[in-house]
Amino acid sequence: MSRYVLALDQGTTSSRAILFDHEGNVRASASMEFRQHYPRPGWVEHDAEEIWRSQIATAEKVLATGQASADDVVAIGITNQRETVVLWDRATGKPVHRAIVWQCRRTAEACDRIRQQGFDRTLREKTGLVTDAYFSGTKIAWLLENVPGLRERAERGELAAGTIDSWLIWNLTAGRAHVTDVSNASRTMLFNLHTLQWDEEILRYFKIPPSLLPTVQASSGVLGETRLWGKSIPIAGVAGDQQASLFGHQCFEPGSAKNTYGTGLFLLMNAGEEIPRSDSGLIATAAWQRNGRTVYALEGSVFIAGAAIQWLRDGLRLIESAEESEALARTVPDTGGVYLVPAFVGLGAPHWDPYARGVVVGLTRGTERAHLVRAALEAMTFQTREVLEAMAQDAGHPPERLRVDGGAARNDFLCQFQADILGLPVERPATTEATALGAAYLAGLGVGFWKDERELASQLRMARRFEPQMSPARRDELFAGWRRAVGRAKGWAH
Ligand code: ADP
Repeated sequence: MSRYVLALDQGTTSSRAILFDHEGNVRASASMEFRQHYPRPGWVEHDAEEIWRSQIATAEKVLATGQASADDVVAIGITNQRETVVLWDRATGKPVHRAIVWQCRRTAEACDRIRQQGFDRTLREKTGLVTDAYFSGTKIAWLLENVPGLRERAERGELAAGTIDSWLIWNLTAGRAHVTDVSNASRTMLFNLHTLQWDEEILRYFKIPPSLLPTVQASSGVLGETRLWGKSIPIAGVAGDQQASLFGHQCFEPGSAKNTYGTGLFLLMNAGEEIPRSDSGLIATAAWQRNGRTVYALEGSVFIAGAAIQWLRDGLRLIESAEESEALARTVPDTGGVYLVPAFVGLGAPHWDPYARGVVVGLTRGTERAHLVRAALEAMTFQTREVLEAMAQDAGHPPERLRVDGGAARNDFLCQFQADILGLPVERPATTEATALGAAYLAGLGVGFWKDERELASQLRMARRFEPQMSPARRDELFAGWRRAVGRAKGWAH
């Protein structure tokens, strides 16, 4: 009999399922895209039922293509797009509104009011987060305030709320479990990092009834079981996508860090078992909880990274594919002084300026398409350096190296330039599935399929290491230019 862990990787644009074997190899994978809804400029929604249907369809597909039966699956691990929230009816299991997605800016003004009232300081102290529309709390409050009847129904205890992990587990367990894990809870802005519980003062402030919220559990260990496929399979690992990726990269030691280059970029550094403090615009988050120990991380969340390459492809039609950006960037020795600051939806870490907008500066008659494309790739590396400098300041030291993953990390030019701009080695693992693997690890460890973290060490294979080659003077000169360009982008839409 074969034995696998089934990872469900519920992302922003697609649902994926991957079957991992005991050596951490991918046995089979399947993915399915689902619809994005943009009801107004800056608003983003998902149909939670479509998320569930696509997720379960990929799970069934992966079992079929992997020639596996439910008997072969020792545990299910879940990792998910973070902060996105769903409200549903406990009796029928039906969502009462579309899910509000992490990217949605509808509560930006509500966040301005929180800051005016000074409550942002309480939120920062208790939850580790910066007050921003990105997190779930103001999204739940918005639903209760703006959708007729929801507040009354919530107060009568008829509704349940949750991030996408909760929603999937509710459905997998046919409504028997309304749970989440600490890593997802820590993205809601309602969760106290010190007590590891929902915070009463914050719930009162947002007028959110406690009965609405799931029970918070460890990230590894049995959280529920599904009987969907004729046999009971434990759901034994859950973490938000970036925390799962940190685990999948085996960043188990304090100070180890990873950067994921996808739509946005998310740099996380293991901070050990003490809640990290940031005075530099980063956030503190729960990374995972396992065997009664909670590990925290410092995080820099940057909203636009690879999405700038998509914009060059779909918006400006300068390139035909994202991959082409690499060869094109190499046709010029530098950007000719051009900087592209992709502040399309404002700036996240470390600036947190919702009113920043994108700029291109330094254009001359000699500027060509290749310069602009190269500038978009370089922008990812400068944004990473900003976050890493903030991290070094908060943590007292920079990491020794940076492990990378995500779609854009396949780009060798980007990885080399990143090493150059940081003056740090950049390591790209052989597996590109760090996020799903992290969820699989948490689940497998949760049922004893793997004994402990040490047993996983032999599975970590680096495909390539990029060493810094640029002179320190040159890297600082280029970065100084970036800083000036960011200054031009800030506050633009005020
Ligand atoms: P997500 O999980 O956020 O959807 P992915 O990790 O799948 O993102 O990465 C997709 C992003 O990476 C897209 O924004 C795309 O433009 C960018 N991308 C993909 N391949 C490359 C490449 N070779 N060079 C630069 N950017 C790339």
